[in-house]
Amino acid sequence: MQYDENLIRSVVSQVLAEVGSPPPIHNGSGGYSGRHGVFHDANEAVAAAQEAFLQLTERTIEERGRIIDHIRRISIDQSEELGTMEMNETKIGRLEHKIAKLLTLGQRAPGIEMIKTEAFSGDKGLAIIERAPFGVIGAITPVTHSLPTITGNAVSMIAGGNTVVVNPHPSGKRVAAEGVRRFNEAIYNDLGIDNLICVIAEPTLETADAIFSHRDVRLICVTGGPAVARAALKSGKRAVVAGPGNPPVVVDETADLDRAARCIIEGGAFDNNLLCIAEKQVFVVEQVFDAMMSAMERAGAARLNSAEIDRLTSQAIAVVGEGEHRHQVAAKDFIGKDAAVLCAAAGKNVAADVELAFGETDYSHPFVGVEQMMPFIPFVRARDVDHAIAMAKESEHGFRHTSMIHSRDVRNMTKMGRAMDTTLYVKNGASMAGLGLGGEGYLSFSIAGPTGEGVTTPQTFTRERRCSIIENLYVVGSPKNV
Ligand code: NAD
Repeated sequence: MQYDENLIRSVVSQVLAEVGSPPPIHNGSGGYSGRHGVFHDANEAVAAAQEAFLQLTERTIEERGRIIDHIRRISIDQSEELGTMEMNETKIGRLEHKIAKLLTLGQRAPGIEMIKTEAFSGDKGLAIIERAPFGVIGAITPVTHSLPTITGNAVSMIAGGNTVVVNPHPSGKRVAAEGVRRFNEAIYNDLGIDNLICVIAEPTLETADAIFSHRDVRLICVTGGPAVARAALKSGKRAVVAGPGNPPVVVDETADLDRAARCIIEGGAFDNNLLCIAEKQVFVVEQVFDAMMSAMERAGAARLNSAEIDRLTSQAIAVVGEGEHRHQVAAKDFIGKDAAVLCAAAGKNVAADVELAFGETDYSHPFVGVEQMMPFIPFVRARDVDHAIAMAKESEHGFRHTSMIHSRDVRNMTKMGRAMDTTLYVKNGASMAGLGLGGEGYLSFSIAGPTGEGVTTPQTFTRERRCSIIENLYVVGSPKNV
């Protein structure tokens, strides 16, 4: 009789999901070895990741570093090929930035060096606080950075000693699976552990649900918009939620306008405005509004007039939902498209290499409130800096994600920082400077605002454990305590 091995595995893993996993049967290199992390069945993926986790717990921290080095090397050396694959599949953003994202994550995502032990010593002995892994983490990743998010998550999570099962966005599933396959293959060939990073090849809401509810998944990490953020928070598990943003920029009368224009273009045009931290709407004080618009043109952005903005809006902003849930969203056909495509829709011809379009709107314009994720940025006149900050705060919808100010007035910077209360707050730089790209600090593509972890690091994906020894090992204490 012929047996379908995949079918048997799938039935077994469904049963295991219901009754819990028994200890894995080790066949030397692991029961799921050779799959290189690519699975169709969510239960099977979790079982493979759990098996890999148990193997990882037997390895040294130095070996974790070696595993991460493979992810870094592939991300860097194959950034062009994988970035092109991501561009061809998702059809949003800009190729050079798809490549740059993989390169940067490979080079700069923090690894094992971020895992810190704390110690308390005194008359009563010594307590050390160490960082332990959770186990298998369930991750959801966005279409805007499919493989880059997996890369950053994998580095952080494995540095913390975890393994991960990813449900990628369906429109970025192929590059996700190929990247994961390459990472696992290299790790397996060197260290003999497979499936440290697992991915669902045909992701659906059902496979996401199966991951969320699986008893062997100890932590969830989602990166995406409002729907997935809500779903993670309702999952009943601890969740690290990297949710949506709508980052505003304020420009006051003291700002270096040419520098502000260059920064807004650099951040707002990167990957055609797909970054969650990217500049989405700008509030400029009346006194320098016209000068700022001229600075944007000098810096190379294409200015649309109000009729052109109307034409673009009628095509690039859609309405979804019924009744009280009816709201405006960015139209799928325009998300992540080039500025030249947006300008053409507006009825304006510009060179293909124009990075950003912009124009004056009022506060109530859809481009102000909608997270557009396309390289058209509305500029709104403000009476003064207080008015600009108030509009900036309201337009951010309380996501508390990212905001920017261009100013030389420290009081205005302070006032806006306090009012916005955002996870990232950049002064006189492009948005990505808040992730250490042109500013200080470290990088991650999962910025957890709603649940408070901020820019995620390996430490985010660890549990605190305390180990105490009583009345001993306080070696600098007085002899009478021994
Ligand atoms: P999206 O919300 O449409 O999808 C994100 C992921 O969630 C996808 O894998 C999708 O399949 C999944 N998903 C959606 N609804 C779900 C549900 N109910 N249950 C389970 N999974 C669900 O977002 P997108 O277009 O892929 O990405 C853009 C969004 O992500 C923007 O809102 C952006 O601000 C946000 N984002 C945030 C960060 C951050 O670090 N905070 C980083 C990147 C992107």
